[in-house]
Amino acid sequence: MMAKRDLYEVLGVSKSASDDEIKKAYRKLSKKFHPDINKEAGAEEKFKEVAEAYEVLSDANKRAAYDQYGHASTDPNFGAGGGGFGGGGFGGGFGGGGFEDIFESFFGGGGGRSYNPNAPRQGEDLQYSLNLEFEEAIFGKETTISYNREEECKTCHGDGAKPGTHPVTCSKCHGTGSLNVERNTPLGRVMTRQTCDVCHGTGQEIKESCPTCHGSGHMKDKHTVKVTVPAGVEDGNQMRLNGQGEAGKNGGPYGDLYVVFRVKPSKEFERNGSEIYYELPINFVQATLGDEVEVPTVHGKVKLKIPAGTQTETNFRLRGKGAPKLRGTGTGDQHVKVKLMTPKNLSKEQTDLLRQFAQASGMEVEEQDGSIFDKVKDAFKADKKKK
Ligand code: ZN
Ligand code: ZN
Repeated sequence: MMAKRDLYEVLGVSKSASDDEIKKAYRKLSKKFHPDINKEAGAEEKFKEVAEAYEVLSDANKRAAYDQYGHASTDPNFGAGGGGFGGGGFGGGFGGGGFEDIFESFFGGGGGRSYNPNAPRQGEDLQYSLNLEFEEAIFGKETTISYNREEECKTCHGDGAKPGTHPVTCSKCHGTGSLNVERNTPLGRVMTRQTCDVCHGTGQEIKESCPTCHGSGHMKDKHTVKVTVPAGVEDGNQMRLNGQGEAGKNGGPYGDLYVVFRVKPSKEFERNGSEIYYELPINFVQATLGDEVEVPTVHGKVKLKIPAGTQTETNFRLRGKGAPKLRGTGTGDQHVKVKLMTPKNLSKEQTDLLRQFAQASGMEVEEQDGSIFDKVKDAFKADKKKK
């Protein structure tokens, strides 16, 4: 797209041209370039350009917006993004009341707005990710964490003045934080309220700034806090620590710190709330004849009786061997799921015994070789051992 020419230039008038001058210029040029009269190449484009310029400059609101924001003001998308101008609200073009909205936000929100820059405001909240081992999340722990945050300046205790001096009432605005300013605008002279440029709205003037914070009253500093991780937290749980966020403004309180727990998974266990899950591999002899085995839990090893005739996928429950309940009292259980492992690579003696077993059971077994997949794997293993 061709770069747009300045609209005043298009009409050949000055920026301070009166409505009459603009109208006259438009009449002259629209006649000159009218496609019915002028058959030169490009005349039609010129005619359109003149008409567009006149459309904007003949309308007080549109002209003022154009003066302020240039061609962007005539773009139908202008303002749709919202950002920057605070007020929003002028996405829908510039007819009617739209202009006043821009006007106010541009001149610092005077008029009906009740925003007070001196009001105490709470500081920002912060977030901290705390990594925990699987067991640490279950049993909890005490730890300290350190992070940078905006703090009240330790030299001036937040007032921004050099030690030994104090902020005084602002001499320009007399402590109100704002000034009434008369402005020349495209609509004439208008009184607007503006944030005081001496005190930036605080109403207090600092004659000699604090050397540490240069008058801001804040400084970035490393902050250390003790954290007690409650027993039974889970990955993604968070804990709020009051007042451990950033310093407030104008004497407002500190923000909060949100500690988010990131729990490492375990190689052995799965966990869901207070319940812990474990898979126990057993062989077919243990499953058939029964056995007593040791099972790992987060509370240490526990004996588990496998009854004779246990089927694969059978679940056993070890009461109280899970994680503490984060809400409420008590501890969850550990669930042990038995997984039956089929033996492989049997010796001749073992194979013979199984054949006898089959015979004694009246089974007729048509024996097969190991699967192709197993053969490849076994060959690979044997090959590795040789090296
Ligand atoms: Zn300071
Ligand atoms: Zn002031």
